[in-house]
Amino acid sequence: MTSLPGDSDSGGSTAEPRPVVCARCGATSEDPPLTWTFSVENGTRQYICDACARANLRAIEGRLDSAWW
Ligand SMILES: [Zn+2]
Repeated sequence: MTSLPGDSDSGGSTAEPRPVVCARCGATSEDPPLTWTFSVENGTRQYICDACARANLRAIEGRLDSAWW
């Protein structure tokens, strides 16, 4: 039995990139951009892309406005 050097090195990395998926439009990104926002709902992280975040903000503002009216 001879152990191959480097065998334990390749394929054993725990720092694999986890692609993030937008919870709204389904857009995927290997690395979560700084422009993306994430919220924790029911203990699950949900990422939202910048475009959906803006739409969400507008929706929230719209609701606030409608609530105020
Ligand atoms: Zn999105």
